[in-house]
Amino acid sequence: MPNFQSETVEEKRNRAATIYGLLSKEYPHVTTFLDHGSPFQLLIAVILSAQCTDARVNLVTPALFGAFPTAERLAEADHDQVKGLIASVNYCNAKTEHIIRTAQILVTSFNGQVPVEMESLLTLPGVGRKTANVVRGQAFGLPGITVDTHVNRLVNRLGFVNDRDPERIEHQLGAIWQDSIWSDFSTQLIVHGRKICDARRPKCDECLLNELCPSAA
Ligand code: SF4
Repeated sequence: MPNFQSETVEEKRNRAATIYGLLSKEYPHVTTFLDHGSPFQLLIAVILSAQCTDARVNLVTPALFGAFPTAERLAEADHDQVKGLIASVNYCNAKTEHIIRTAQILVTSFNGQVPVEMESLLTLPGVGRKTANVVRGQAFGLPGITVDTHVNRLVNRLGFVNDRDPERIEHQLGAIWQDSIWSDFSTQLIVHGRKICDARRPKCDECLLNELCPSAA
């Protein structure tokens, strides 16, 4: 078992690469869990997924994207009709505002397309760094570290960081992980967190990372 207490940055980087290799074999086809047919639809689905399960979002998006498949169509949508379509999603009122306004900004400022730059994405209502990184990684194949609740928990348990602030974690991980693995590694950790490294009852005895994890019980 490595001595995690005295681990150098280089050793941490190597351990991250080893863990990424193991998770890549365990979860070879990771992708976003949100159904979508375009970068625009992914952006809208990720906005809807805040404080809500992906499964719930996937239940409402077929009808939403059936009625409003593009930024142009959603930009002109009736508020009450959209709200009715996403009524079972948490904070549906605020999210209705956010997605219609986002669509309007895409039309007026970005030619109806989703921008790739982080700074541009962050100007859209309901879009924070987590959402922007998911879109950049999954829609455009760009490096992006998604720090959701699972990634936050796992990177702390795995000893990559000792911090709970998502933005600081993102920057700290960026210094340890190679940028070519950012998107996939984030998604693998989300899957592993859901399946094995549960918030309350991590299944350390079943975990393929237990030799590499300072929190292994
Ligand atoms: S060994 Fe335990 S704490 Fe560490 S990643 Fe696996 S399940 Fe989580």
